[in-house]
Amino acid sequence: MKFGGSSVADAACMRQVAGLVREALGPASPAPLVVLSAMGKTTNGLFQAARAAEIGDLPTALDQLKQLIQDHRLAADGLFEDGVPEDLDRAVTDAFGQIELLLRGVALLRELSPRSQDAIASFGEQLSTRIFAAFLQNQGLDTTWVDARSVMRTDSTFGEGQPNAEAIRELARTNMSPLLGAGRIVVTQGYVGSTEEGLTTTLGRGGSDYSAALFGAALQAAEVQIWTDVEGVLTCDPRIVPGALPIPELSFAEAAELAAFGAKVLHPATIQPAVEARIPVTVRSTQKPQGRFTTITGEVHTGRSVTALASRGPITVLTVSSSRMLAQSGFLARLFEVFGRLNISVDLVATAEVSVSLTVEADALLKPLLKELSTFATVQIAEDRAIVAIVGERLKHTPGLGSRVFGALPDINIEMISMGANEINLSIVIKRGHERETLCRLHTALIESTDQGGAA
Ligand code: ASP
Ligand code: MG
Repeated sequence: MKFGGSSVADAACMRQVAGLVREALGPASPAPLVVLSAMGKTTNGLFQAARAAEIGDLPTALDQLKQLIQDHRLAADGLFEDGVPEDLDRAVTDAFGQIELLLRGVALLRELSPRSQDAIASFGEQLSTRIFAAFLQNQGLDTTWVDARSVMRTDSTFGEGQPNAEAIRELARTNMSPLLGAGRIVVTQGYVGSTEEGLTTTLGRGGSDYSAALFGAALQAAEVQIWTDVEGVLTCDPRIVPGALPIPELSFAEAAELAAFGAKVLHPATIQPAVEARIPVTVRSTQKPQGRFTTITGEVHTGRSVTALASRGPITVLTVSSSRMLAQSGFLARLFEVFGRLNISVDLVATAEVSVSLTVEADALLKPLLKELSTFATVQIAEDRAIVAIVGERLKHTPGLGSRVFGALPDINIEMISMGANEINLSIVIKRGHERETLCRLHTALIESTDQGGAA
């Protein structure tokens, strides 16, 4: 069970999470491993303090620290009516003492290496898990706090430690499994890891989901639950389409497409370890725990023909034409070699006989690219466009999908179309001014009205 920063932001949130963990102690999940992020904005606060120290502004760094101390004290006070237990109090004081030492060291040296940064940032999770574990113990629950560094082995890429899955499996077997038993809870930190030499690392910002998937895979968990503030992954961005619905089942490939095209789903790379180990990952709502949720698995065979919509903009469309391209082999190779060398990433591609259309990020540096391309082709540029991606495993088995897409957009000009090579993503390019309207209409036409798969 992984809970993010907003789920453990204060005492009230932590109480709610404790309730969920207690409920999980039923027969369905007799031995939960609880993986927590740092409370609320703690990681940001630690980063800010570290940066202030780096430029020698120790007063600002210590002010920032004071604020964090206050937040954590307040949370602890709110959880223990009869006073904060002595050992928790000591652990919190200790942790803040160590952060202060580190900040003073950074300020003295005016140097903040990724390694020092990780050492400082890791305290956010140390603190949230200390407080939470003590609270569970105080509630009479059989709870053990485990230092994630005793299991989450990474290489020494500080700031973005690369996990060593094999070592983690071994360490989980010796340092975690024996503590997990029926009715027993283990609490540990997301985001934090350690090198073989025992140096503290982190998995990179937002790394707690990744931690949960890695721990889950190592322990062969029955399920990895990502608890968050939405009812699972939705069919579209609810700020654009208020009628967006939670998706019951999502395949890993669909999740990857949606993330690539701008949906705020879990980053699929973060749950890959669980998917590879064939462990279902569920995205659940802390506010509505009994409500709907999304299960992400390796493969999904049921559901609507269109699973979800996502969009991304602004993007730029380049149409590259060359009369010399006609009947000439190797043109595409020559074309993309230029993009590759200039490090410009291409998303969609559509080819015609004498031209190729492709999309690039709006902020791509086009000048050097255009200069090179102009030696063998002409290039038309269309800016301020958006890609709308229609994603679903069953797209390829859905006849008439195209007519439904066009039918919903009789007055919106579709400038480019691309069916992803994996056949689960039909993308269209439109003017960015039409992005919202396009999403709303497609959501009505493809998701709300027809429910062919019957997955309500
Ligand atoms: N606390 C870390 C962060 O804010 C990790 C996480 O929340 O997943 O980036
Ligand atoms: Mg987070």
